[in-house]
Amino acid sequence: RAKQQHCGFLYFNSSMNIAGKRQLFLESGLRRALEHNEFELYYQPKIHVTKGHITGAEALLRWRHPRSGIIGPDRFIADIETTSLIEPVGEWVLREACQQMVAWCHAGLAGQRVAVNLSARQFSQPDLLLVVDQILQETGLKAGNLELEISETTAMSDAGQTLKILTALKQRGVHLCIDSFGTGYSSLGYLKRFPIDAIKIDHSFIQELGRDNDAAAIVTAIIQLAHSMSIAVIAEGVETTAQRDFLVQHGCDEIQGFLYSMPLPAEDYAELFGQHA
Ligand code: C2E
Ligand code: CA
Ligand code: CA
Repeated sequence: RAKQQHCGFLYFNSSMNIAGKRQLFLESGLRRALEHNEFELYYQPKIHVTKGHITGAEALLRWRHPRSGIIGPDRFIADIETTSLIEPVGEWVLREACQQMVAWCHAGLAGQRVAVNLSARQFSQPDLLLVVDQILQETGLKAGNLELEISETTAMSDAGQTLKILTALKQRGVHLCIDSFGTGYSSLGYLKRFPIDAIKIDHSFIQELGRDNDAAAIVTAIIQLAHSMSIAVIAEGVETTAQRDFLVQHGCDEIQGFLYSMPLPAEDYAELFGQHA
């Protein structure tokens, strides 16, 4: 028994060490990445369903690792969130996306918005509004050319606080979108009170269209509900023409997904936009 306890203790200890070491290793890697400019933004276009033009792009973070190549955010965003690094990385993303959009506006890629994802921790930072104001002022981007995406779960975790922050952002003219809609629990009362412009239906529902009647019913209901509140609807993860046709038929406003384009490096996005215009 003593041995078992001893072993249990050892096991616990070493697993803590492995987790702790991994965290430290990752944290120092991410810190270095920030210092050495290893982060990049890719841009994925959003397409207006009926008019067919590009309405803007979602900025998606990538880590160009010196040995491993391009690493997607699913492999490090959650880790960044657990450290104080989310603040500088989040600010870097916002600044970079705003700078890029200003450059594109100057180059004639006008009439567009750039969408930036805000993590839960960023959203609850007391100085979020200050950071947004400062970056808009510094880069000269108009608030109306910036869209912020907040996940449904983040928005609903403290709905009262969310209402205050969204109201302040809306007053500045920033476009607001609730991301990954349908995956969390939303109080409809709050959805109506939040001053949001759009909701983005989670890709899991889009991918089930044509396979699962429930998904079709949910997507249709979300579109109707949002429209009844004058909220625009974006569908993410659209990969097939059948999915697009369903969305067109049911009045979805914008579409994003591999069917139109993968997320692209900035130069490739500008080229795509040029072809599209
Ligand atoms: P998200 O905000 O839901 O972003 C959409 C994800 O779906 C992106 O993955 C995108 O590449 C992928 N995607 C786009 N079209 C399709 C499609 O047709 N099919 C499929 N299967 N996937 C598609 P990505 O770039 O790996 O980003 C993953 C998540 O990481 C994002 O999910 C977002 O939550 C987070 N993320 C990305 N960039 C940032 C950032 O700058 N800040 C924060 N806080 N989170 C970020
Ligand atoms: Ca998003
Ligand atoms: Ca999403």
